[in-house]
Amino acid sequence: MLPGELQATIQEAEQVAGCAIEVVPDATANEFDNLTLRVDDGVCSATIAYRGESISRCALLHEVLHVKRYWLNAVPILRPAARLRYEPEAQMVNDLIEHLIIIPEERRFVEAESNAHWSSVMANLAELPRVSFPSSQAEVDALQRSLVLQRAMMDIALPDLDNTRLYDRLRDENLFESSAAFIDRLRNMLDDKERALIFVSREFRYDVTAFCVGRFNVRANPKSFERSPLVQ
Ligand SMILES: [Zn+2]
Repeated sequence: MLPGELQATIQEAEQVAGCAIEVVPDATANEFDNLTLRVDDGVCSATIAYRGESISRCALLHEVLHVKRYWLNAVPILRPAARLRYEPEAQMVNDLIEHLIIIPEERRFVEAESNAHWSSVMANLAELPRVSFPSSQAEVDALQRSLVLQRAMMDIALPDLDNTRLYDRLRDENLFESSAAFIDRLRNMLDDKERALIFVSREFRYDVTAFCVGRFNVRANPKSFERSPLVQ
């Protein structure tokens, strides 16, 4: 299913980590993006789960690109500093940065499938509710983050998709200009993921001290997942 370049990536990842990357059916898996990477007592494991009859080429390729970055490139992963708090927020910011980098790569291999997948994801996101008045500041913040995140995905990673509805909505919410400035700055720091994570966390008005970064050290002995504070 995979192009030779990514078959080589899998071979290298499996060799370095000392385990096979399992691809398994799972009726409870999400529609897309089910990757579990672990290091337990120095032993690595990687599972890509999928729902339905078989995994799509686009989904498999997407996960291999994550594995390449997390294991072979040891890119930082945003995590909550304390368990059980800010997990969804950390994952949202981390996934955003990962996907801004991975999707253009993915499109290099399976452009039509990738565009089809992400256009349906973005269409679902575009159904965001209007915030009714009076509403809590937390609801307003969540909506604004979601709209700005969608624009980052569209402008940076998915330039072929139709952005008309999203742009109209950003104008309605008076976010068009500010989100353009945010994206210009973000676009120029994507090669430094930790910097991008801090920038987005701050722009989204999260408490940066609630987060840390983890990195897989699969080439080390023993293999580990090391956490460290975000570099301020
Ligand atoms: Zn992903």
